[in-house]
Amino acid sequence: MNSSVGLYIHVPFCNSKCPYCDFYSINLYKDALNAYVDKICSELLYYSNMVGKEIDTIYFGGGTPSLLKTEHFEEILGVIYKFFNVKKETEITLEVNPTTRNNLDFIGLRTLGINRLSIGLQSANDNELKKLGRRHTVSDAENTIRLAQSKGFKNISLDLMIAIPGQTKESLLRSIKFCCEINIQHVSSYLLKIEEGTEFYKNRNTLKLKDEDEQAELYLLLCETLKSYGFNHYEISNFSKPGYQSAHNLKYWNANEYIGIGPSAHSFLNGTRFYYKRDLKSFFNTPKVIYDGKGGDEQEYSMLRLRLSEGLKNHIYKERFDHGIPSQYFKNAKFYEQYGLVRCTEDSISLTDKGFLVSNKLIGEIIQ
Ligand code: SF4
Repeated sequence: MNSSVGLYIHVPFCNSKCPYCDFYSINLYKDALNAYVDKICSELLYYSNMVGKEIDTIYFGGGTPSLLKTEHFEEILGVIYKFFNVKKETEITLEVNPTTRNNLDFIGLRTLGINRLSIGLQSANDNELKKLGRRHTVSDAENTIRLAQSKGFKNISLDLMIAIPGQTKESLLRSIKFCCEINIQHVSSYLLKIEEGTEFYKNRNTLKLKDEDEQAELYLLLCETLKSYGFNHYEISNFSKPGYQSAHNLKYWNANEYIGIGPSAHSFLNGTRFYYKRDLKSFFNTPKVIYDGKGGDEQEYSMLRLRLSEGLKNHIYKERFDHGIPSQYFKNAKFYEQYGLVRCTEDSISLTDKGFLVSNKLIGEIIQ
């Protein structure tokens, strides 16, 4: 297992709630940010005493972390740099909502060490952004990207949504082309899921949702097109130019250690998984974490690694568990190879793009 640890800071505030969103976030209220940043810093101090390991990735996610001001990042990163052992050239990512670009001081952020942006584009079609309830336009997103690039950001990821009601192959191709032509390095792409508790869930009968075949067609089109533009499909939902995989997110898929701070944030440390409640009040009052069991065993590791295009590799498996990939996994995988869902070599098992479409079920079948 990698001996370094990732840090995730959750910022649970947004200007408004998007109707499909299931992340823990609440509307920003007056004076919330200063108090929240102070709380994050005190939690960081707590962890600094128990983490002797090096930190090699930092990720500000949300909610909308780009609502924070440069001085807030200065305060948080100041504590991290002072009390943790932060590796040189650590990847530090900030999620950016295009609506917040006018408040962002990109040069100041870079000076603080933030070197990667993940921008919530979702679609390069204004009618689709409207359907998603996003408060920005395509040109807001474009201006944000160009501004960040002009201030020296050279590692930018864009989020793209697939299976938006009304989305067509043509409109998806327009969104993909937008990403490729604006010269960014990474794309994260998610199928629209209707989660319980969201506004979309309440109105699900009125939404013209894509059926499974339509979703599959759009997903495969996305994989194929991004590959033709030189993106490497390295995880079910993630594509990167060579050398630009998300080091932080790879921690999750490699079952390596990370600490998540903030309501709803999850951690995996010293073989144990734990998380904070999805509740800002309790984070402020009694920020106790909830134990979520042991982590990193063979099954869990295999489940996570099979999300990566690289899949399970015998020599890496051996390093971690002192023996190779179980022969039963190969036996199970070979059965699905004939349907084009799995790729097997002598010492590896991985899913194909088609396999990724049914990954939940397929991975369960391989590792049973
Ligand atoms: S801005 Fe992002 S986190 Fe906030 S509600 Fe919309 S999708 Fe959710």
